[in-house]
Amino acid sequence: MRKKQFKTESQKLLDMMINSIYTHKEIFLRELISNASDAIDKLYFRSLTDKSVTLSKSDYAIWLKADKNARTLTISDNGCGMTEDELETNLGTIAKSGSFDFKRDNAKDEEVDIIGQFGVGFYSAFMVANRITVKSKPFGADTAFIWESEGASGYTVSECDKESFGTEITLYIKEDTEDEKYSEYLEEFRLRSLIKKYSDYIRYPIKIEVERKKKKEGSEDEYETVREVEILNSMIPIWKKSSSETTEEEYASFYTDKFYDYEKPIRVITQHSEGSATYTALMFIPSHAPFNYYTKDYEKGLELYSSGVMIMEKCSDLLPDYFSFVKGLVDSQDLSLNISREMLQHDRQLKIMAKTIEKKIANELAKMLKDSREDYEKFFDAFGVQLKFGLYSDYGMHKDTLKDLVLFKSKDGKYLTLKEYTEGMKDGQSAIYYASGESEAKLSILPQVEAVSSRGYEVLFLTDEVDEFALKMLGKYGDFEFKNVTAEALDLATEDEKKKIGDANEGAKDMLELMKDAIGSVSAVKFSANLTKYPVCLSSEGDLSVEMERVLKRMPGAEGVPEAKVVLEINHSHPISEKLFKLFAEDKETLKKYAKILYSEACLIGGVGVSDPKEFAELISELMI
Ligand code: ADP
Repeated sequence: MRKKQFKTESQKLLDMMINSIYTHKEIFLRELISNASDAIDKLYFRSLTDKSVTLSKSDYAIWLKADKNARTLTISDNGCGMTEDELETNLGTIAKSGSFDFKRDNAKDEEVDIIGQFGVGFYSAFMVANRITVKSKPFGADTAFIWESEGASGYTVSECDKESFGTEITLYIKEDTEDEKYSEYLEEFRLRSLIKKYSDYIRYPIKIEVERKKKKEGSEDEYETVREVEILNSMIPIWKKSSSETTEEEYASFYTDKFYDYEKPIRVITQHSEGSATYTALMFIPSHAPFNYYTKDYEKGLELYSSGVMIMEKCSDLLPDYFSFVKGLVDSQDLSLNISREMLQHDRQLKIMAKTIEKKIANELAKMLKDSREDYEKFFDAFGVQLKFGLYSDYGMHKDTLKDLVLFKSKDGKYLTLKEYTEGMKDGQSAIYYASGESEAKLSILPQVEAVSSRGYEVLFLTDEVDEFALKMLGKYGDFEFKNVTAEALDLATEDEKKKIGDANEGAKDMLELMKDAIGSVSAVKFSANLTKYPVCLSSEGDLSVEMERVLKRMPGAEGVPEAKVVLEINHSHPISEKLFKLFAEDKETLKKYAKILYSEACLIGGVGVSDPKEFAELISELMI
């Protein structure tokens, strides 16, 4: 019998498989099983119109058989089978699907990529086998043929005996090497776990014959070995069942098994979409952040299935970054099994899916916020920062999706949405007030917080670094602007008060200038009507707050960060003001010292610390003697 050579392209792919260093060799089983399932599909569909096919759906099956002595693994099916010609064209040439672009065949380093990106089908079996035979007999035919190959040297096709129709593929598993334990593919437990991992939801039973030790009938202590057939796959994906048929426990145990979490999810999201994109999604919101969530090791993504067969473990394009905490999967009949990662990125269908998935997640979060406040707050404690980053990122492009999902703490530690804040606003209140700093404790002593609160206005406490940036990006909520209580332009005063302060500042120009020069590091010293109890406070002029400057300075590449413009505000109705005027008239040197002390005081209470503690201490002592 004449040995035939593979077509050039197939030859290249084959070489790659034989010498593969690819780490996920195990995918070969997924490929062979899904071929078998396709072949059964074909016969099944034929049976719907062809009366000669008398099988019922339950007759179809895929069989696995491992023989450790012979080192063979056999995968057989009772699908459509292949004729002699089909064996030639289907297995002698690479799949005609065109999914394999041979312009990228040039280097070994690309191998990993190529195998990972494409389902490489039948040939992937050469990653674990050095000889493969395929016996096949089409349904209704009299003769069977066998295709045999040891890889590189070519293949033969000849007539053979095969009783039943269908296909039987035998892999002669490679000998173990130091790095690679091929024998594992002959182990029942390994096959079992591979089927669970990749092919659990194949619609036909995947059967294996196993040996079990059982007590002999009528005997207490005598055992016998019996052979039993076991089905390795569950066949019905949990996401294909209607959610009313599925219990919360089932979802929870599916989630904990699949995503290795010890805690059940805080929310289960199911989605069946039809129309522009047909898919089923089953998603979960974890109850706590994974240990690596806030590191660069964390990979977002949903598992991607094409009609029940897993084609990608983490499809990152399906989730926006701000929902990166979502775990789950998407199953679509619109995607082909062999679609590459690259092609996926440009896949229109996938983009539509991603959009509808995003909407669904946003809606579910909104629902949770409404129905289960406690859960939502727990969720927000774990993942809220991510949502706030989402507000800020991409120049605020996602603000409509996210602005009603973010929470901020109120002065008394209660979470508020922006909507709740605005609904609770006092008559005449014209802005949403916030204070930004390292901790709630530090914020609560800010003079301006006291001043704003005393007018009956709520103040949001922003303690995450991203907070103030997110609000700046948001710009406004409804008709209301956000105002940092430590901004110089806080503008709480009435027109009358403003006029009075304006006059006071004008009249004390020289004194304030003298104080400013004495302090050195402020851009102005001013009287203010914003303060109530405290004598002084710091505020910032312009868009950059002191807190923002602090955050920016901590980031890489901080050299170019501008300084926030700091203003020392003095409470005009505080007795200290009179004292200052007196000193200006009688003792300018002491006034300068007072200026420094007041500035340090404002720094301390503002949480920024005193830059020269020694000088501060000396000045205080001097006053005391
Ligand atoms: P793909 O599945 O992407 O087309 P493969 O290399 O895996 O590529 O398979 C090539 C072809 O061989 C399949 O398209 C199918 O026609 C045929 N084939 C493979 N396995 C079987 C099988 N178990 N039964 C019938 N036909 C099969």
